[in-house]
Amino acid sequence: MSWLIRDVSLADGRAGLDVRLGGGVITEIGPGLRTGAETEVDGGGGVLLPGLHDHHIHLHGAAAARESIDCTGGLAALTGASSARIRAVGAGVSVDRHTLDRLVPDRPVRVQHRSGALWMLNTPALAELAPLPHLPGVERDAAGEPTGRLWRLDYLLRGTWPPRGDLTALGRELTAFGITGVTDATPGLTEPPALPQRVTLLGARKLLLHDHDLPGYDELRDRIAALHRRGLPVAVHCVTRVSLLLTLAVLDEVGMLPGDRIEHGAVVPDPELLRGLTVVTQPGFVVAHRERYRAEVDPEDLPHLYPYATLLAADVAVLPSSDAPYGPLDPWAIMRAAASRDLGPHERVPVRTVLDGFLRDACLRPRAVAVGAPADLLVLAAPLRTALDTPDAALVRLVWIDGQLASHR
Ligand SMILES: [Zn+2]
Repeated sequence: MSWLIRDVSLADGRAGLDVRLGGGVITEIGPGLRTGAETEVDGGGGVLLPGLHDHHIHLHGAAAARESIDCTGGLAALTGASSARIRAVGAGVSVDRHTLDRLVPDRPVRVQHRSGALWMLNTPALAELAPLPHLPGVERDAAGEPTGRLWRLDYLLRGTWPPRGDLTALGRELTAFGITGVTDATPGLTEPPALPQRVTLLGARKLLLHDHDLPGYDELRDRIAALHRRGLPVAVHCVTRVSLLLTLAVLDEVGMLPGDRIEHGAVVPDPELLRGLTVVTQPGFVVAHRERYRAEVDPEDLPHLYPYATLLAADVAVLPSSDAPYGPLDPWAIMRAAASRDLGPHERVPVRTVLDGFLRDACLRPRAVAVGAPADLLVLAAPLRTALDTPDAALVRLVWIDGQLASHR
């Protein structure tokens, strides 16, 4: 289907333009375009932008989280659940199966720790996985029995525990935010989840460093070098000072490939060391988890938490992302968080900076509204100035993905 969008403005300040879409791309931009066979839609003078790209998300996790019990307030929330199987997220405690059995003895329960690193299963849930393979992430007691704690074994649970969450509802939510593309950062994910959005998988490029069990220097060097030999830039999960310094030391030896990324960069003591790299950050965390960070993070790390402005000043590329379901999904809330955070106020960046990051594609290239560009677009119900002053998802009015009108309000 082809479209003629009447009366929009562009980010460069031009206004009163019409934009024609056909064959999944922008075919014409100009004032007063002649009427054709296309369906016409009124842009109302709002700004037309490329659709947003969330550079780090976990789609299956985000879809499943929509249907999960929220245990951020404690495990007591489990006892009120009525479903035949209980999936819960956001737990702030690490408990074994006996504790979970006392809360819910009769049905399978699995609870995710808020770090995302740990699943805790009760005895009925463990029984469904029997025989449990002998893997390093399967914690066992002195008698060799599983304790119910499974570390970094999402892939084991992914195939065995339906429902996988409602991807359709997640796709609608992403579209309503103006998100037309995402990069799924789930390690080892090989099948792109079916969504209206363009989905890029980090897959094998994602190297997860387990902070309780870091790889040795040689092992990490060999893994990164092997990916680089295949021409694949790496995406290394670094949420502690130690894992970051290890990664930087290895990259210093093997060299960097354009597109190499640090995921999170949760603690960066010296931004200068990251020059030439890309950091995919989550400004939403510093607002959503502010109180917990204040209470729990090492005071020495606190000033270096989720940097943004100091990285840019050191010539490090920074891209924003949600890391949903662990962080808030709404990119407009993420823009507000980055611009107004009070944990590390020296790391604030203008809304425009974060927006520009969301406007880069999966290969980190800037995108613009131009003839020939993909028709992955959004129209806001206001000029750009308003959106930068008061970034809000409610401003998103029209969204096209690959030339298809995906959202209209
Ligand atoms: Zn992640």
